[in-house]
Amino acid sequence: MRTQELVDRHGRIATDLRVSLTDRCNLRCSYCMPAEGLDWLPHEEALTDDEVVRLVGIGVERLGITEVRFTGGEPLLRRGLADIVRRTKALAPTPDVSITTNALGLERVAPTLAAAGLDRVNVSLDTVRAADFHTITRRDRLHDVIAGLRAAEAAGLTPVKVNAVLLRGINDDQAPELLAWCLERGYQLRFIEQMPLDAQHGWTREDMVTAEEILASLESEFVLTPTGTPRGSAPAEEFLVDGGPASVGVIASVTRPFCGDCDRVRLTADGQVRDCLFASTESDLRAAMRAGASDDELADRWVAAMLGKRAGHGIDDVTFLQPDRPMSAIGG
Ligand code: SAM
Ligand code: SF4
Repeated sequence: MRTQELVDRHGRIATDLRVSLTDRCNLRCSYCMPAEGLDWLPHEEALTDDEVVRLVGIGVERLGITEVRFTGGEPLLRRGLADIVRRTKALAPTPDVSITTNALGLERVAPTLAAAGLDRVNVSLDTVRAADFHTITRRDRLHDVIAGLRAAEAAGLTPVKVNAVLLRGINDDQAPELLAWCLERGYQLRFIEQMPLDAQHGWTREDMVTAEEILASLESEFVLTPTGTPRGSAPAEEFLVDGGPASVGVIASVTRPFCGDCDRVRLTADGQVRDCLFASTESDLRAAMRAGASDDELADRWVAAMLGKRAGHGIDDVTFLQPDRPMSAIGG
């Protein structure tokens, strides 16, 4: 079998594949999509389970992908998720496989996903206050998320990671509270700066709670020490909490971008390769696949798609244009 690298013109090599399994979601986080939801992808445009596994297989077996993360939209809404995970774990060399999820329904499926070979979960949880959870997600489901987290841990999908976004005027004062809550339960917390990827195009720099603000807020209650581990392609800057061993991460995607070390590539639910969250172009692997392309041809297309990867996302440039697809349709 012919193998190649997903290398771009700046010498970065993509080894971390994010696959969106659906653009649909059962929450409506205000920083992601509007209250009424979006026009979901028609069923026939989405990759089938077999198509997903074929493309992921090309990525892993021919193109050097070592980590696969299934996301969305909400990946737990994909009926074939456990089977897709199982078939992905059967690839050689075996990739690390995880999901990013809002955890609704995880309580029920965590054991099945663990049995299918899933390595880990990243659960998105921005607040542990029910009223604020409702304000942010527009649904009353905090209880289900907490049950999902517990089930993930019980099923051995560890370390359980929690991702949080802070919103000004809603939960921007809750960083220490959320950290204390996660520490008590042994969950690894990471805060993510809000990015201009909402479907409503409502993001403003002024409203974004910066990594600096998040750290200052945490430091009002905890002693944080940089772990000293070079950030490399891991976007989170990690800090030991009160001397360790527990730590907290902050992902400063906007104020301290890590594009120079980016090792990611994305595949949307309709089979488009995106070399960046903020890419303005995509490469259509679905059309090629449905037109009968061979694995070699699909691999070549994928390699070619990486050549246009820009050096950085350029959110601060005056020329910056938010991508047409929102986060939920790209796969966050
Ligand atoms: N539905 C799943 C979830 O929420 O975990 C997976 C998809 S969601 C798009 C993936 C991650 O993107 C979540 O952690 C979410 O908080 C984050 N996210 C969504 N919109 C964002 C934005 N505008 N800026 C930063 N993070 C965002
Ligand atoms: Fe759904 Fe995740 Fe977007 Fe929230 S962030 S609306 S849970 S896709």
